[in-house]
Amino acid sequence: MIRWLAVFFILATQAAGQAQFDPDRSSIRDGWRSVQIDLGLSDIVPYRIFTLDDPRRLVLDFEGLDTGGISADTINTARGITAVRFGPFRPGWTRMVLDLAHPLTLAQAGMTQDTDGARLQVQLRRTTATEFAAAAGSPPDPGWDALTQQALAGLDPHTADTRFVVVLDPGHGGIDPGAQRGGITEAHLMLRFANEIAASLQALDGVSVVLTRSDDIFVPLYTRMSIARGAGADLFISLHADALEQDDAWGASVYTLSNGSADVAMDRLVERHGRGDLLAGVDLTETDDRVAGVLMDMARRTTAPRAVSFADTLVEQMRDQGVRLNAHPRRTGRFSVLLAADFPSVLIEAGFLSNAQDRENLRDPARRGRLVTAITTAVAAYQAAPR
Ligand SMILES: [Zn+2]
Repeated sequence: MIRWLAVFFILATQAAGQAQFDPDRSSIRDGWRSVQIDLGLSDIVPYRIFTLDDPRRLVLDFEGLDTGGISADTINTARGITAVRFGPFRPGWTRMVLDLAHPLTLAQAGMTQDTDGARLQVQLRRTTATEFAAAAGSPPDPGWDALTQQALAGLDPHTADTRFVVVLDPGHGGIDPGAQRGGITEAHLMLRFANEIAASLQALDGVSVVLTRSDDIFVPLYTRMSIARGAGADLFISLHADALEQDDAWGASVYTLSNGSADVAMDRLVERHGRGDLLAGVDLTETDDRVAGVLMDMARRTTAPRAVSFADTLVEQMRDQGVRLNAHPRRTGRFSVLLAADFPSVLIEAGFLSNAQDRENLRDPARRGRLVTAITTAVAAYQAAPR
């Protein structure tokens, strides 16, 4: 049923014959008004490189590169670079992100073969904030569109038409791990949770389940929505368990899209969620609104009340199941992932990884089971309700 997941697997196996990252032949060091990056690899691999603004970063994407779990921070001695990290970007691709201390633009980049394998040399040069902003931006990425297309090609449109399609969206993934507290990574936990919900929903008559990711990979928010759209989503459920700094927030809550005004805690959450996509250079929060605001608002007049109705039922069910609820379990927020206008979307904050009791509950399969039951019952009620 979730056949597009197999596409990820096929793509991943095609990338076999991986090149290795060699930290001993790698360095990142300061030059005069510049930063020099040298990366030793065992073989030449396809790559792309670009800068992103706000916050300023240099991004390197490599196809078929195995970083061997090595921390990239160890090769960095440059003051111009405040942090370096590796992470999975999409199947077969690894992303390296360098946080820039000041505006640095690409002066030179080239990969060459040498006696030890391959070497990527990149020179960054100091520039002004204005010039940096003008040069920043990710290149068009046809790979993602192809991936989405292939993923959806596996879905039978007839099945999608007649069945009630629930799209489950495990938050974060890959280079964006989400919250990490007490040995729990939000991205990993939400994937497990999504699989548990999927298993339960699939037992319902006439319900199909599609996951926006089936692996620990980065999926940009807009791709998550494209996948849902292509699958003919009747309902989109995003799954999170975030962490809040200096906050004793606890308990589960369900979000629907707000019309603008927001409370303070929620604003912080939006910020944290935005970061994941900033990492990949995508943030549709503003552009979506500006470009298609009016049209989307019209479509939302139909879908928004449905999302609200589902969210209300879900909170009732969670209460019935004895799920530990937040003091304000029904919330609204301007999360990018809720912006799709053509299908109702909700975001479940299953609890806060920053709270010890929530962490314990989320770790416990039986406790998660209460949430799974609540979601399944709410979906069944929503599916059966006349619209
Ligand atoms: Zn999250």
